[in-house]
Amino acid sequence: MDIEAVNRELERAPAGERIDWAARNLARVVHGSSFGPEDVAIIHMSSGELPTIFLDTNYHFEETLELVERVKGAYSLDLEVYSAYGSREDFEEENGRLYEEEPDECCRINKVEPLGEALEGVDAWITGLRREQSPTREGTRIVEGEGERLKISPLADWTGEDLWNYIEENGVPTNPLHDRGYPSIGCAPCTSPVEAGEDERAGRWSGSGKTECGLHPPDDPGD
Ligand code: SF4
Repeated sequence: MDIEAVNRELERAPAGERIDWAARNLARVVHGSSFGPEDVAIIHMSSGELPTIFLDTNYHFEETLELVERVKGAYSLDLEVYSAYGSREDFEEENGRLYEEEPDECCRINKVEPLGEALEGVDAWITGLRREQSPTREGTRIVEGEGERLKISPLADWTGEDLWNYIEENGVPTNPLHDRGYPSIGCAPCTSPVEAGEDERAGRWSGSGKTECGLHPPDDPGD
């Protein structure tokens, strides 16, 4: 596949057509969803028809888990949940509170490894990455090669305004924490509210220098 040519074509297409292109041209496509606003917009746009995967780290906010259930029911989602451990207690019994001392290792165990398992045999996965989200995501392309697999980010060129207009116009359900100062929501111990004017991902691992969980490494611009 000529990824450059596909990107040239899809850069001119609306987001919904980018998803349709993936569904038409690739046999096994899944949506890797964190149930952030981008992901729920993608679920709405595809009428819930994409098989969806969610990584349950056992550290999510209650509000996030409630949203997952609400969206799953509303769109009759074919949802598969992947977790490294059955519970937070099981994880901490073996590893302690790894997020305090070694967040990269904690993310590797709870996110990167389960994602690898979830994507086995998959031709392409769809993500909610947007270029505007942070400097590490500025280089996000709509279609990228990732080994044998493709990573497709249909909202790559959307601004925050585009996203929230779409959500409001279509009544897309979102996490109530967004109204409490959390534009980007990950695990509870590693997410804090942001100040006005800050990067929308500034509340993720705030003050630690860590900016990504490893699913989308900054040197492989692509959660
Ligand atoms: S975001 Fe925090 S709690 Fe979640 S997997 Fe990464 S380090 Fe662990």
